[in-house]
Amino acid sequence: MARMNVALQELGHAMPNYKRATLQDEEGPEPAGDGSASPDSVEVGFRKGPGTLLSRLASRSQLELVLCAVAVSLALLLSVAVVTLAIQYRRDPSHSTCLTDACVRVASKILEALDTEMDPCQDFYQYSCGGWIKRNPLPNGRSKWSTFNSIWDQNQAIMKHLLENATFNSSSEAERKTQRYYLSCLKEQRIEELGSQPLMELIDKIGGWNITGSWNQTSFMEVLKSVSGTYRATPFFTVYVGADSKSSNSNIIQVDQSGLFLPSRDYYLNKTANEKVLAAYLAYMVELGTLLGGTPEPTRLQMQQVLDFETQLANITVPQAERRDDEKIYHKMSIAELQLLAPAIDWLDYLSYALAPLELADTEPVVVYGDTYLQQVSDLINDTDRSILNNYLIWNLVQKTASSLDQRFETAQERLLETLYGTRKSCTPRWQTCISNTDDTLGFALGSLFVKATFDRDSKAIAEEMISEIRAAFEVSLDQLDWMDEKTRQAAKEKADAIYDMIGFPDFILDNKELDDVYDGYEVSEDSFFQNMLNFYNFSAKVMADQLRKPPNRDQWSMTPQTVNAYYLPTKNGIVFPAGILQAPFYARNHPKALNFGGIGVVMGHELTHAFDDQGREYDKEGNLRPWWQNSSLEAFKNRTACMTEQYGHYTVHSEKVNGRQTLGENIADNGGLKAAYNAYKSWLQKNGEEKRLPALGLTNHQLFFVGFAQVWCSVRTPESSHEGLVTDPHSPDKYRVIGTLSNSRDFVEHFGCPLGSPMNPDLSGCRSWPRAERSPAPVLTLHTPLLHPPRHTRPHTRHPPQPHPQLGAEHGRQRGCSTPKTQLCPPNPDVLESGTAQCPLRCAPRLRRAGQRGPRESTRAKIPLLLPNNLPEMEAGGHPAPLFPCPLPVQLGFPIHFCWDQRAAAGTLVPSAVGGCRRVYLTIKSSFHLLQQFLVLRGVGAGGEVGSGAVGG
Ligand SMILES: [Zn+2]
Repeated sequence: MARMNVALQELGHAMPNYKRATLQDEEGPEPAGDGSASPDSVEVGFRKGPGTLLSRLASRSQLELVLCAVAVSLALLLSVAVVTLAIQYRRDPSHSTCLTDACVRVASKILEALDTEMDPCQDFYQYSCGGWIKRNPLPNGRSKWSTFNSIWDQNQAIMKHLLENATFNSSSEAERKTQRYYLSCLKEQRIEELGSQPLMELIDKIGGWNITGSWNQTSFMEVLKSVSGTYRATPFFTVYVGADSKSSNSNIIQVDQSGLFLPSRDYYLNKTANEKVLAAYLAYMVELGTLLGGTPEPTRLQMQQVLDFETQLANITVPQAERRDDEKIYHKMSIAELQLLAPAIDWLDYLSYALAPLELADTEPVVVYGDTYLQQVSDLINDTDRSILNNYLIWNLVQKTASSLDQRFETAQERLLETLYGTRKSCTPRWQTCISNTDDTLGFALGSLFVKATFDRDSKAIAEEMISEIRAAFEVSLDQLDWMDEKTRQAAKEKADAIYDMIGFPDFILDNKELDDVYDGYEVSEDSFFQNMLNFYNFSAKVMADQLRKPPNRDQWSMTPQTVNAYYLPTKNGIVFPAGILQAPFYARNHPKALNFGGIGVVMGHELTHAFDDQGREYDKEGNLRPWWQNSSLEAFKNRTACMTEQYGHYTVHSEKVNGRQTLGENIADNGGLKAAYNAYKSWLQKNGEEKRLPALGLTNHQLFFVGFAQVWCSVRTPESSHEGLVTDPHSPDKYRVIGTLSNSRDFVEHFGCPLGSPMNPDLSGCRSWPRAERSPAPVLTLHTPLLHPPRHTRPHTRHPPQPHPQLGAEHGRQRGCSTPKTQLCPPNPDVLESGTAQCPLRCAPRLRRAGQRGPRESTRAKIPLLLPNNLPEMEAGGHPAPLFPCPLPVQLGFPIHFCWDQRAAAGTLVPSAVGGCRRVYLTIKSSFHLLQQFLVLRGVGAGGEVGSGAVGG
């Protein structure tokens, strides 16, 4: 165990330190009286609160009183803590409780997230996440909030500091481009000055638009080539270059269906259910048309025609759930044959243009996914009025580029997003939008900065070791599948052995020359954000063309290093874990292994399993799509997966059913991943012996594994966003990723003692093909579906092409020139504040606890007298948000406690509360720090959850 403890370097541990240090350097003034605090003093830094308190405390005599109170209370606190610890120690003769800082902290976090009033056998998701959900109201401007979002927010804050560093002086041109791009995005005044001009000029350049003026009536092919070749929009279909599924060592041109603006065909076809969305979409189209010079009524008429045309496209678009069998949808043909299939497009002309300067002949092979769709879209193009086609084409360009224009365009988009995703209006800080944009364009150069600043190289070896443990467990479970024949089993093992893992980042990003070469040819200026974006589309088209004659490259990742996600790529038979996800709560060196296996371990198992899900199983160990299963095993596999399709198909969110077919691959991966990770943990225990338990939770380490797994999926989202997820997401809703998986796990059921027939241990005899004895499915895949829930910024890595309109993500909504002050509630995830970065430049509204409001059963509630530094900034009048305490917080090291004011605050006392995350003190005294932690955590437990009145002093 000691060996592992040493080996498992904790990434997350290094990061906060890094961030804190950066903050201090950059944000400047050291508040008085900090830092060199004597070992016995308590330092409290926090944001300002109500004035009465402030003024009272500001008076010196008052201060002295308080100081006195601090000393007394601290002494009291320490003695109580020591006594409590002593009691705890005596009760635990084997001393099997882990009382390190890290253990106490993580125990406290887990406890906060639990709803211990819920019976885990009734609803394990509510049990694991009920407390978290209570403490995490949806932040403004978000349609979903989860662990993934909050880690991404932290990563963004790190990148902000890197790019805004005044002494930024990189020797890499690509990194300098990254900074220029970011700064061009921040220049809002310049963007406002330009208004809609850049796009209007672009439209003129490619032949005009009937909505805003005249247009060149003969140029269908020319406009198509510009819009989708040069500017990478995807009207009608999408074209890209990627590994040939049946010959994975070579790249090939691929064509697939595309062309809808709304997230899926359902939005167009279920008109009654989506009346509001369709109306908002039309209003958005009309607004953009008029902003670009159209007159309202004719614009409305023509946009309605475009919408009707998109509805026809939706009609012939094949639902994702019906496209899961790659063998069926893969059609290789020559350009000449494609021409016969879909004659409305001059394919050789189009592809030669899109892939210039490559020379293509009509014998060039193309893989067509969905030949029926292409045939039908060709007919549709031939049957549609040219002016409608032109309007549709230019609309594709407009929606793709409008988010780089001035605020009026932003506001219009925001309105649409509100209807579509239920996002509440907000003022997303501009920098955050710009970091996301930079990640989308120069993500690997940005990743170079990110990795150099944060990634511990040891993490790579640690992650590799973990993957090999999970792979071994996975292979053992292959042996236990009694329905699999020996030949298939052997091939499956070979495939599992051959899975190639990529961890952290691709090596090229740390080599300046290689990195610069990747972005060579991409022109970036600090002055024109719009032009930077156009240049990028053009550049990415050239990069795509460049790939065609080269073999697929393992160093080419589909996710940037800072991304909080992971994926399996079937054509490479490879799994990728970007640096962004190798941190707490997924993984931390000093966390119990139960949590690491339940976190990143399950993620690893999930990705491995994708190699054998309903899609991934079709690919062999070389990444080639070819039948390698014996018929008998294939039959058995299909029977079992049918059962899983049915199981998940019964789950509902707001009375709407989960699509069991659409989510099958992810569900298989979730189930297989959990099992592999749990078995790997058991093996680890066999080798290393039992771990110490976390304090205060009352959970065995086996139970902790399952709780840790479940808490990764705590999330909140709007009903609109939930609906969107049900119709578009290949993953099940978070709640059922937990409930579905665990209710299939014998190990879970045993460790929580769930009686047969209880919701978490349902009687599955009706689904005989899936006997509990072998509930873990065969292994499984994703084509690129990100293994985890795609966080906001990640373009959905759908199977083949990128999603048509990545810019229309709920989380992409941003707003400039907000009329309201840029005020935010404290971030729901305290880690953002803990990092000391994300929110510091902003203001934070105190979240008031109303009288009578029932407090959470948090374990850290106690009164602590306050010591205010003398240099608090003036507070704002009228109960408005007070400025955040100047960054950095006055103390370097600390145990964060959240505070919310309540009535008692007026008397000079803060009530720490995990509920609001509004107030935070940093206690610096090292000697008492540890004891204080124990005390706070243990108290919560000792009092059976009803705590809150225990004064720690004063
Ligand atoms: Zn997945």
